[in-house]
Amino acid sequence: MAPALILRDGRVWDGLATEPRPADVVCEDGVVREVTGPRAARPGPEDLEVDLAGCTVLPGLIDCHVHLVWDGSPDPATHVDQDGEQLTTVRAAEHARAYLPAGITTVRDLGGNWDIAVTLARAVDRGHLDGPTIVAAGQTVIMTGGHDPFWGIPCDGPDEVVRGVRGQVAKGAGVIKTAATGGVYGQTHGEEVGASELTYEELAALAHEAHRRGRRVAAHALGEEGVRNAVRAGIDTIEHGVFLADDVIEDMVRRGTVLCPTAEVYRRIADGQAPDYAVRKARDVVEAHRRSVTRAIEAGVPVIAGTDAGAPGMAHPSLVDEITTLRDYGLSTLQALRAATSTAADALGRPAAGRVYPGSPADLLLVDGDPFTDLALLRRPWGVVRHQKLRRS
Ligand SMILES: [Zn+2]
Repeated sequence: MAPALILRDGRVWDGLATEPRPADVVCEDGVVREVTGPRAARPGPEDLEVDLAGCTVLPGLIDCHVHLVWDGSPDPATHVDQDGEQLTTVRAAEHARAYLPAGITTVRDLGGNWDIAVTLARAVDRGHLDGPTIVAAGQTVIMTGGHDPFWGIPCDGPDEVVRGVRGQVAKGAGVIKTAATGGVYGQTHGEEVGASELTYEELAALAHEAHRRGRRVAAHALGEEGVRNAVRAGIDTIEHGVFLADDVIEDMVRRGTVLCPTAEVYRRIADGQAPDYAVRKARDVVEAHRRSVTRAIEAGVPVIAGTDAGAPGMAHPSLVDEITTLRDYGLSTLQALRAATSTAADALGRPAAGRVYPGSPADLLLVDGDPFTDLALLRRPWGVVRHQKLRRS
């Protein structure tokens, strides 16, 4: 048996409870083996003990919406065009490496050029890249002329949409990303936030096939009708959700459809950190978005933290900014922390990733102090545990 890592005498938050409680955590082979009472774990002679008095142990954080190929500059899609596939791959790997030191141990990549994100996900799984677990969509399933054409596979009609899903699954996608409406930033000439793209019938066929293949579906959906189509079609997570009608919010609560607002990115774009056309569109929607997210939270829609990191104004990583903004929009501190841990993990279909319990992966964030009283502590982790190693930040 390899030596255990014993995190002694800290306060442990399991990703769900209303507050941390004093406990020791015993990690073996990269897995949480035991959570004992404080100072109760009994180390063997080879084991490594770490004194965490005054610290909090949390599940490693999850960013549910990133684009590793993008660099967070004002016009990242143009950079990718200029850099080409090979340089973009190297840069995307560099972006991925920024996550673990920040305590983010899982990211969901919702769209990238070529097969870069899927390849990086495989590189992490095989130990070639020191990055977070990546749940990658690969390329996105869009209508001809739809949102994000630079990484979209144009599919028209239910049969082509099914083919699009199968193609991404064959390449190793861990999640399927689609577009139900236009967007704020992108290269599609004349696209409008409110315009619906793939139809209800197409989205329903897509969701059915993805679920049949064991993949969840994330839909880019901003406009009211497109969000309604996506929710009715059985999409698992609504990305952005700028205009949410009352009946759609009710439907989301009833179905358990998750909202990933990416709240902060629209504020950054509206601030001017993007091309002019995108700044104008973001300024038009940012207040409506805030109202929609607040109403969804009040109604009880499950909300998860995703940054759109890589998009204009959003560097890798930006998760604590999003957690803070979600709290401004109406989540309690507890809900905001769950949005980046247990609620996020459930939405990804990997519940153990956002929790601390015997058998969960020992992907842990260690913070000096109590993040329940000061969320900003998440910006400066004391350390991160992954693959049975403690790395000090
Ligand atoms: Zn995005």
